[in-house]
Amino acid sequence: MFDIKLLNRLTIQLDLTNFCNLSCIMCDSKNYKKKQFMKRDLFEKISTEIVRDFPDAPVRMHMHGESTLHPEFCGLLDIFSELKKKYSSNNMIEISTNGQYSDKITDALIDSGIVYSVTFSVDASDSKVYEKIRRGGDFDILLKNFEQLLSKNIDRKTTLPYTYLQFIVMEENQHQIDDFAAKFSILYKKYGITPVIEKDYFFKEMDKHRIMFLRKIVGEDFNSLKQQKYFDDLHLQSIHNVIPKKSDNSDSKKTRTVEKLNQFRYPCPGLWLYIGIHPDGTVSPCCQDPDGSFVLGNLNDEKLIDIWTGEKIEKYRLDQIAGAFSNPCSDCTNQIEAGFSDEELKDYLIKIGKSELWQKFTLRRKI
Ligand code: SF4
Repeated sequence: MFDIKLLNRLTIQLDLTNFCNLSCIMCDSKNYKKKQFMKRDLFEKISTEIVRDFPDAPVRMHMHGESTLHPEFCGLLDIFSELKKKYSSNNMIEISTNGQYSDKITDALIDSGIVYSVTFSVDASDSKVYEKIRRGGDFDILLKNFEQLLSKNIDRKTTLPYTYLQFIVMEENQHQIDDFAAKFSILYKKYGITPVIEKDYFFKEMDKHRIMFLRKIVGEDFNSLKQQKYFDDLHLQSIHNVIPKKSDNSDSKKTRTVEKLNQFRYPCPGLWLYIGIHPDGTVSPCCQDPDGSFVLGNLNDEKLIDIWTGEKIEKYRLDQIAGAFSNPCSDCTNQIEAGFSDEELKDYLIKIGKSELWQKFTLRRKI
């Protein structure tokens, strides 16, 4: 589609709502300013642009809210499915859900034929811990919906969607890691499936059902879990190639540390690989902007392709290559660690006529 390879690897994050029916202990969605649902007309406009201008981009139909709460969720999947057929595009949908939905959602997830994966947020192996973490949720409903998806897939002889079970490791649940893997492996096997067990963010095989442990786990030893801060620091270390000073807490020292970190910091691959669309059509550089404060544009009156190739996002990218990290990226601890090679970055700079920045980049990173 684009002459520039890096711009073709986009995953689109399309938030149907920023509203959620649960109040999970690790989630700050309850603090978002405006609760809203994407209007049908806006969804149709954005979807048309996606299938026409980004025909290979995966679409994550969730970002900060629970998509299945959208009153027209099933109808919106139908709209996307029709547009996909009309434009013969390859886009597939990924859904992440707390699994507290009604039976008709299960049917839509299967029958639409466009949902590649459904990620269930679980985080526990029993109702006691589940309901402590996922406040307002019902563990039995989650189990019912998970099993229903597997059994209906078998009844209808369909492969998709794949199911992923997510366990974010935290103090409250770290004693249940083994139980969780065992319990859900048994459930999967009931339906003739042997799931892949994955640790942290990077998946080896996409076309497999998975049990995923996120964030706190590093290495092979489940018993070596420590505090979140330790793992956050490891993450920072890996993206900056320097070790953060953990004991350095004063504001001025913190600023100096951030400056030092940014001197070596790799530009966030997220600026080339992801874009976030909020329910009101606002576009943000990525999903780490829950209020849509860092506005690249609005799809009510702009085109996604123009925003994706426009000056605002280009400035974020070029500034970071040069070593300048502004908000929302400056203090972000969720920067993805990998996404493309130095060679691809160099090729990108040459293609956009900014090859002089390559030298600046290599000098500051001491490559
Ligand atoms: S650094 Fe963080 S806020 Fe910035 S684009 Fe990457 S993930 Fe998003």
